[in-house]
Amino acid sequence: MGPIPAYVHTLLAALWDAGFETYPVGGCVRDSLMGRTPADWDLCTAARPDQTEAVLGGYRLVETGVKHGTVTVLTEGGPVEITTFRADGAYRDHRRPERVAFVPDLKEDLARRDFTVNAMALGPDGQVVDPYGGRADLAAGVIRCVGEPDVRFGEDALRILRALRFASRLDFTIEPVTADGAVKNRTLLDDIARERVFAELKGILTGPGAGRVLREYAPVIFQVIPELAAEEGFAQKSPHHIHDVWTHTAMAVDAAEPDVVSRLAMLLHDIAKPACFFTDENGVGHFYGHGERGAALADGILRRLRCDNDTRERVCLLVAHHDMRPPQTPKAMRKLLAKVGEEAVRQLIACWRADNADRAPDVRARNLAMIETSERVLEGLFAEEAPCFSVKSLAVNGRDILALGVKPGPAVGRVLDRLFNDVLDGLVPNERGPLLQKAAELLKED
Ligand code: ATP
Ligand code: MG
Repeated sequence: MGPIPAYVHTLLAALWDAGFETYPVGGCVRDSLMGRTPADWDLCTAARPDQTEAVLGGYRLVETGVKHGTVTVLTEGGPVEITTFRADGAYRDHRRPERVAFVPDLKEDLARRDFTVNAMALGPDGQVVDPYGGRADLAAGVIRCVGEPDVRFGEDALRILRALRFASRLDFTIEPVTADGAVKNRTLLDDIARERVFAELKGILTGPGAGRVLREYAPVIFQVIPELAAEEGFAQKSPHHIHDVWTHTAMAVDAAEPDVVSRLAMLLHDIAKPACFFTDENGVGHFYGHGERGAALADGILRRLRCDNDTRERVCLLVAHHDMRPPQTPKAMRKLLAKVGEEAVRQLIACWRADNADRAPDVRARNLAMIETSERVLEGLFAEEAPCFSVKSLAVNGRDILALGVKPGPAVGRVLDRLFNDVLDGLVPNERGPLLQKAAELLKED
């Protein structure tokens, strides 16, 4: 287990010296025991918030969480949350309690925590305070509720998604009674704020166990995104595919880069497949237009989940283009670059690869060759001396066009657009001399 950082140790010492039991608790203990570096250190203490503030008067403090007993201390190592030992009062609407009660000891504080692996604290002599068997569950790779799962998920339904998130991130299984409780109580998720649901969903998707969790807890995921439910068991009747749409989706999520945009894109990429499905005269399934239509569905889903605009737009772009043929020529690649930009093209290529990871073997090999050609074409374009994928990166600008005698106004933009199209089509190199010559020709024609 790694050591407690000095900036945390100083806070612990100050509170102990003032007579208040104080412990690192929760995620930082779990991560340290796993040999991982904790993202942040949370402390719990016998001191009430006003007492914590008095002891740590020399620090900059943030009071936003005082109602729940939390004082945030700004240290040179980053913010540290210090929370008074508490029991959570009555729960309303399956959400976090409005009011909390402070309690005298650590044990009771640990009892309100969600999972055994999150309900451990570090004592002053380095001993682990672990009344619920957190260490054993950590060693076995198990997420288990503290107490009765049915009760705990009923108190706060967000814990259902937290269980899935930790199972994905730590690549753990969920203990059977806890797993049953999570699935059984899933409708309570409807009461949880969409922002919080979405934050957990992103955590589930970006973990190393994402695909497995999606498959094992499909009903929970469908509670949050009902539009996905039609994918489960949906046979594709196509020589391209060996799995139903949901299984394929889960596998594609695993194969994708572990960033939020790529993972969300793979989760939603085939969402319109069931709606676009038809079989031809040979009984073979097709899904024409499911990319475009999927992007429209994804847009609605992400808005509902209060996804930020930038993420939503990137995801929808990937969903919309995931089923296109990878550009095989410089001309086709220039067009795509001009349309969506370099970053999106690179993400799109990664998505094609992820989508292709679960395909019938011969189809996969053929697709892979096309994707690799696309990549080579892309690199070839960027190896050019003056790559040009937008009007702005043309080797001439509006002033040059004015100098040719064009009147100021929209005509200037029209000439630049035509030059840009000719560069995309490979008719003119993106060089000043040839472009000016071409512009002069265009003006003569008019
Ligand atoms: P992460 O590394 O994702 O931050 P974490 O364990 O620190 O993991 P937090 O959401 O930061 O998770 O919560 C800190 C601790 O507070 C948890 O370890 C857990 O003990 C407790 N906790 C958080 N949310 C809940 C909840 N909804 N119900 C019960 N206990 C919770
Ligand atoms: Mg945390």
